[in-house]
Amino acid sequence: MCGIVGYIGKRNALPVLMDGLKRLEYRGYDSAGISLVQKKRIKTWRAVGRVSELEKKINIEEMGNVGIAHTRWATHGEPSEKNAHPHSDCGKNISLVHNGIIENYAELKKLLSKKGHRFSSETDTEVVVHLIEELAKKKTFMEALTEAVRLLEGTYGLAIITSKEPGKLYCARKGSPLILGVGTDEFIVASDASAIVSHTKKIVYLEDGEIAEISPDGFNIFNAKNHKTAKQIFEVNLTDEQVKKQGFPHFMLKEIFQQPDAVRNALRGRVEKFLSEDGGPIPGGLLCVEKRLKKIRRIVIVACGTSYYAGLAGKYLLEEFSGLPTEVESASEFRYRKNTIDEHTAVLAISQSGETADTLEAIREAKLKGALTLGIVNTVGSTIARETDAGIYCHAGPEIGVASTKAFSSQLSILVLLTLTLGRQRRLSFSESKALATELQKIPEKIEAILRDKNTIKKLAKKYAHFSDWLYLGRKYSFPIALEGALKIKEISYVHAEGYAAGEMKHGPIALIDEKFPSFFIAPTDSVYEKTMSGMQEVKARKGKILAVATAGNKKIKDLVDDVVYIPAAPEAFSSFLSATVTHLFAYYVGTAKGYDVDRPRNLAKSVTVE
Ligand code: GLU
Repeated sequence: MCGIVGYIGKRNALPVLMDGLKRLEYRGYDSAGISLVQKKRIKTWRAVGRVSELEKKINIEEMGNVGIAHTRWATHGEPSEKNAHPHSDCGKNISLVHNGIIENYAELKKLLSKKGHRFSSETDTEVVVHLIEELAKKKTFMEALTEAVRLLEGTYGLAIITSKEPGKLYCARKGSPLILGVGTDEFIVASDASAIVSHTKKIVYLEDGEIAEISPDGFNIFNAKNHKTAKQIFEVNLTDEQVKKQGFPHFMLKEIFQQPDAVRNALRGRVEKFLSEDGGPIPGGLLCVEKRLKKIRRIVIVACGTSYYAGLAGKYLLEEFSGLPTEVESASEFRYRKNTIDEHTAVLAISQSGETADTLEAIREAKLKGALTLGIVNTVGSTIARETDAGIYCHAGPEIGVASTKAFSSQLSILVLLTLTLGRQRRLSFSESKALATELQKIPEKIEAILRDKNTIKKLAKKYAHFSDWLYLGRKYSFPIALEGALKIKEISYVHAEGYAAGEMKHGPIALIDEKFPSFFIAPTDSVYEKTMSGMQEVKARKGKILAVATAGNKKIKDLVDDVVYIPAAPEAFSSFLSATVTHLFAYYVGTAKGYDVDRPRNLAKSVTVE
């Protein structure tokens, strides 16, 4: 959510900032802006809409070796030019970009207004720049910044420049992601590595409460107590190619087509542990907590959005194969109610970005209460990955499309591996886990078969694109996919859709069914197929249209439903991988049939870093 880029070095900052903004645009795209230091003065450009609108406003020849840039996802104040970042102080000497929410902004604004500061936006962000200006009247810039962040409540990732120190770039973080790319004679600050990797692979992760003071010759990082801290430089293995579309019309389609590889990459070097009796059946990332894992009696999964639905699929897997009672809770709820967790509970965070604020806070709360904290995270080195006791990385590669697709497949894969690990520690025999692991290895090819048949789904999407409401229904392992499918079509096509357990339909939503309200049934041949069929009969009896996902070979279903998409046969616990891909493709093709920008759906942003 929101993209920040900052540059300081020997090159012209503008092309680096512009390129960085384009790469970060998936994080927020309602407005954008850039500030450059030019001859000891700051010049700022801002525009509503996409980064391309901003680009039109700036002469490519504008020069400056220091600058900051921002692509916004508004929280306070509508998307408008005056609310776009960077924001400036009254004297126009300081320019600042911010990701996060300043919770005490109203009080600070009142205080600063009394002191004569004039505000020109409705944002929470603007108070920060005036606060620094106020404090800098009696202190050095660094002292003023340190004092200012101490007075802030809420979350922030900040990048700041000042004409008083034209050769410096400052940044600070608490709760919002910010990393520092270390190049030769240059430094790039960004919300994530995609804006940095084409310049350098060397990264420093800023921790909460840290402030960085950067010049072309080097950087100093101070912790919350204002002590200089030594930082480790990490090497990231993200390539420039990975963050491009590679011939696909949208990142979303590219990422759906990467689902087979996302599963393969998640399993690589891990699934083998369940195929042979040599070595312990535990993925490397969990080795450090092996003993504690044996002692846990319960799992609480905390996640949001698509990751939450992966978690729900995980609950079914974990309870069936490991016997551990498992709950799934919206991370945003977890922290604000009294929950009963203790040292025998494992709290498992699932987050693609590893920066989801709600999930991060839930993990912090769980730690406080003595739980073992685990993570299933895609972004290496992200905050959740760092703050959990142990975890398994997804290795799905960067996911740029705002609607999550390949990350979902990879989260499911990791959840199976976790289930096998915990299952082997409890009730699963070697031969049972081997049989599951063997079937799991076949999933990528089965997803590939669905992708080869994409035109069937595309045609159906066109046929059904005019409907404005949907019920997505499934039982047992297909229930989480019904929820995920409904979410995906909402996000991408702005179509109203509700996901329900198919058995729940008759308890309420059936009232909605008529010929204008179709149902999307996920009905693989499994242990609950007959029950799912009853639900279909009930819909048909009310003249509802049905589009169904069924297992290849099930010809009979055609007598009942209007249209069917076939998926390859798989054990019921794994059919969710396959039906998920169908729902993702369907949402994609409905969205594109309606002419929407599926990579940047309205009002949404990738990586929700505010609570
Ligand atoms: N709260 C700030 C605003 O609304 C920052 C939003 C963002 O993270 O993009 O401008």
